[in-house]
Amino acid sequence: MKSYADSLVCDGCGKEYSLREPINLCPHCGDLLEITYDLAALKRDGAKVAVAGGNRSIWRYRPLLPPVEEKNIVTLGEGGTPLTNSVVIGPMLGMEHLYFKNDTLMPTGSFKDRGFSLAVSFAKDIGVRRGFTYSSGNAGASFSAYSGRGRFDALVLIEYQASDVKKSMLTLYGVNAVILNFESFSQITEMLDYGARELGLYQFVNFINPVRHEAMKTYAYEIVEQLGRTPDHMLHPVGTGGGLWGTWKGFRELYELGLVDHLPKMTGVQPQEVCWMKQAIDSGALIGSPYGDSTKTIAQSISGNAPLKEGRRLLSCVRESGGAAECVSDSEILEAMRLLAHEGIAAEPSSAASVAALIKQVKSGAVRTDETAVCVITGTSLKQPSAVQRAAGQPEESINANGKELKALVERVFAKEK
Ligand SMILES: *Cc1c(COP(=O)(O)O)cnc(C)c1O
Repeated sequence: MKSYADSLVCDGCGKEYSLREPINLCPHCGDLLEITYDLAALKRDGAKVAVAGGNRSIWRYRPLLPPVEEKNIVTLGEGGTPLTNSVVIGPMLGMEHLYFKNDTLMPTGSFKDRGFSLAVSFAKDIGVRRGFTYSSGNAGASFSAYSGRGRFDALVLIEYQASDVKKSMLTLYGVNAVILNFESFSQITEMLDYGARELGLYQFVNFINPVRHEAMKTYAYEIVEQLGRTPDHMLHPVGTGGGLWGTWKGFRELYELGLVDHLPKMTGVQPQEVCWMKQAIDSGALIGSPYGDSTKTIAQSISGNAPLKEGRRLLSCVRESGGAAECVSDSEILEAMRLLAHEGIAAEPSSAASVAALIKQVKSGAVRTDETAVCVITGTSLKQPSAVQRAAGQPEESINANGKELKALVERVFAKEK
């Protein structure tokens, strides 16, 4: 299947580069690179955006992804996750059309797999043999799984704050990994910039790598197929913002192709301890600035308090779409984790943040109860077990294995429920 991607264009100076150059940031001015597609040609050719044929992964949207030869595709079946309607939180809020895009079901337990399947495959295709990423935990697991499977030489720098399980998964997958210590996120973004500028090492950090977030466009494609229309609101937890931005780009492409008739309002969700987006939106600032303390939130995967490249993409996404920047507290997140679990979805705190934000937005009137909203559930609870314990504790009672105790228990429990 042919790809309609045609070039890399710099956000800053507008310079164009060939898609096949192994570059991260613009070699001319150092700004972010974005992939463009020849949508007019796609329309002219009458090409289909998606070809299903039994394959539910992101790879069925190849016309709208960067080109990769079949033999270089590294896939574990990422994408094609359920869009689950809400049976607890929606009714509680008086909302009929609330949905969860359940990416806890991805091969390594988080939505990062969409991006790493694409980015590792693409890197192989253009002849890159090695690369590194910084990770708050899930990106590292995903990069490890895909690079291992794809025989790609990978190095992961994982935040010291990541849960023990997330750290151990790197060792389990067998990737080169080190723990990254730092005092502020600005140090990380500066280090990554240095890596791109001075070391010439190919990176897989969102946005610095111009390919990873392309895979997040598949959220838009899948949701429109599953819902049969565009939702009014998309709520997405924001770390680097690759998920938010990629989803927005996907919807804009569908709009430009005439496949949907309107665009959703995009809401970026952050912990209140580090909500630089809300600070910028509320104050009318065109660029984001570091804000708050990354060590203070339970939402590890979205604890970054310094925007990449001043957050210009994310701020424009929120403003252009008419959406919002929302921030949530740990206690709101823990409550959302419990409510979401009552729907059957056990998510890590960073993912439940989108649900906590929705609840706030319905209460404030930013989301009306007759509108359709999709919360993206980005990762499983299983990789942050201490948060599960904090949200829910454990059963308090125990019994001994005998009929008498069972009988007494059953009588008590089911009597209680009447
Ligand atoms: C990485 C991550 C995020 C944030 O995604 P970005 O694309 O960096 O904004 C949100 N939730 C989970 C579970 C993550 O692993």
